[in-house]
Amino acid sequence: MKNEHLSHSTLFPMGQKVEKNFIGDAYLQMVFTDPAPLNTAIGNVTFAPGARNNWHSHYTGQVLLVTGGEGWCQEEGKPAQSLKTGDVVNIPANVKHWHGATKESWFVHLALTPGQTDWLEPVLDEEYIKL
Ligand code: MN
Repeated sequence: MKNEHLSHSTLFPMGQKVEKNFIGDAYLQMVFTDPAPLNTAIGNVTFAPGARNNWHSHYTGQVLLVTGGEGWCQEEGKPAQSLKTGDVVNIPANVKHWHGATKESWFVHLALTPGQTDWLEPVLDEEYIKL
């Protein structure tokens, strides 16, 4: 799917292609970086079909607000959770997980991330393809 198509499907700017810690075509635009009063960065993340981030964990946890498309979020040792527009995901601190698009759909979420992120290994095709 081409960038022009994706850019019409998101509320916030698509931003720049993410070069590290993702598989496939994903884009990031930071939409809020003020340290006060909430002390959380907010990024708009757009995934092309099949794109996902590597396994990772957040020191302070993370909240995802799904604004478009269809995707997945999976915590290690649990089934992947299907996500669609309007879904809200609460990811606890220090829980290993990944998020990304389905194979067939683009996927857009806002990510509220108040702390550091620990990036780990990629989500392998043989795991992802089973979803
Ligand atoms: Mn995350």
